[in-house]
Amino acid sequence: MTLALYGLGVSRGVAIGKAYVLSRDEINVTEYSIDKNKLEQEIQRFKNAIAQAEQQLHVVLKQIPESTQGNIKSFITTHLLMLEDDALARIPIDIIRERACNAEWALKLQRDALVAVFEQMSDDYLRTRRDDVDFVVNRVLRILLKRTDNAVNLSPGSLRGMIILADDLSPAEIVWMKNQNIAAFITEYGGTTSHTAILARSLSIPAIVGVHNARTTLISGEELIVDGRQGVVLASADQDLITFYHALCSKQSGLIRQLKQLKLQPAISQDDIKISLRANVELPGDFAAIRDVRADGVGLYRTEMLYMNGDGLPSEEQQLVIYRQLVEAADGAPVVIRTLDIGGEKSVASIQQNDVIMNPALSLRGLRLCLKEISIFRSQLRAILRASIYGQVRLMVPMLSTLHELSQVKALLVDIKQELTNEGHAFVENLPIGGMVEVPAVALAANVFARHLDFMSIGTNDLIQYTVAADRIDDSVNYLYDPLHIGVLRLIHMVIEAGKETGIPVSMCGEMAGDVRYTRLLLGLGLREFSMHPAFLLEVKQYIQKSHVANLREQVIKVLEHGEHSAIHELMLSINHD
Ligand code: PEP
Ligand code: MG
Repeated sequence: MTLALYGLGVSRGVAIGKAYVLSRDEINVTEYSIDKNKLEQEIQRFKNAIAQAEQQLHVVLKQIPESTQGNIKSFITTHLLMLEDDALARIPIDIIRERACNAEWALKLQRDALVAVFEQMSDDYLRTRRDDVDFVVNRVLRILLKRTDNAVNLSPGSLRGMIILADDLSPAEIVWMKNQNIAAFITEYGGTTSHTAILARSLSIPAIVGVHNARTTLISGEELIVDGRQGVVLASADQDLITFYHALCSKQSGLIRQLKQLKLQPAISQDDIKISLRANVELPGDFAAIRDVRADGVGLYRTEMLYMNGDGLPSEEQQLVIYRQLVEAADGAPVVIRTLDIGGEKSVASIQQNDVIMNPALSLRGLRLCLKEISIFRSQLRAILRASIYGQVRLMVPMLSTLHELSQVKALLVDIKQELTNEGHAFVENLPIGGMVEVPAVALAANVFARHLDFMSIGTNDLIQYTVAADRIDDSVNYLYDPLHIGVLRLIHMVIEAGKETGIPVSMCGEMAGDVRYTRLLLGLGLREFSMHPAFLLEVKQYIQKSHVANLREQVIKVLEHGEHSAIHELMLSINHD
């Protein structure tokens, strides 16, 4: 009988292959004493393990493709820095000497001490740092104990075509596995916006996260089917299912070839409605993708990566160089530069925030933080204004909540423009200013905000989390994080309508815009500008080309008024059925 396990499909694609269970139960470390005359030897064994761990991470770092989105490289660099830090590289040596104990025990004691400090903090970012300590310490412990349950310790080639099952995977492990040509992976933890998910999407590995008990229910060697679109893992599948999925796999390869041919075609619906498809970019490595998929410019440049990747804050000049590169890569097409959006789940070490924040997502983040840290904001606004002469730059503020914030931004821009003029710097005088609609109060009053903005962009990632009151990265409430919630759909519709009434463009740049399951729904809601990870752009274009917008509108609006959950699901089945 077929066994189906469900999780969150975070990276689409179907894979069939044998399971490889990466069982990494708690590493049990025991203390034993070391003869005084063998202490230096033990210390050397510890140093060798640290060096080996560093070497493994350097290999992985080199294998990360330039085009990888997100701050994945910086994760591995952070792990490398931790390996060099006194806290992990020196203090365990002191412990070995003082207690005359084995290296594993000394490292465990130091890990426990560090974790105890992190655990007293309620900040999300610091909790992530605690996970980093675990990743790094476990890597060194596995080397010391000569354990092979770290994926990177397996012999090359042994995972080819396999479906990996793990508790969680570090970015380093995912990159290593990609190079081993794994077919897919499944983890027991993680959410749709976790780094595991982002990396899986960037590297096009079918993946499902949050499949609780996967490692105890499934066994190594059994044949599995992973359906990354539906978030389902099938074991002991009957012959009909296997045949169906084999057919889907070949269709998938054919589809990829077919999609490449769409590059030069416009995104025009069956009833001649032109849709604009823009790219979301984060790192200079992504800029080339704008041209690769022939995007109509950039709908969202997440500038925070500039602040999260480097050492300290980027200077105005450093920002100008990057913004100019991006604007030139867009080759005359519009580029929306979003001002710094940190706080919430994204933190920057060099920008001090309160130690204890009970609800970081509701606290000082995005525009709120920028208006408080005015010198950081000024330097970014100056750089954006100066970059405006190289193309069609548009400025966008995240986490906009009030009109007063908008007036503050505008006043600041007037002041900065005067300053730039006095200094002899050129800029575009009437740089368009847009606001992200992420706060439900702004969506509800979108017609008022629209009068003060040149464009709006719906940030569904946050809009959904705030509307349904479910943390976007907490997998225990992920079942509530529903883009199809009637409340969410009505808000999206209100924003699009407000844009039409006021005559300003409305786009969408949250994950929903790049998910083909929602393309037709959004067309029916009236959306005409989509911005997404470049990897999804051609597939969305294909859906648009096969859609009749006027027909969709009629069906969608009817269901929007009705509002019942069952009606929305019936609508989704009917509009997505070709
Ligand atoms: C969003 O909230 O939808 C968005 C695009 O911003 P981010 O994911 O960077 O918060
Ligand atoms: Mg957001």
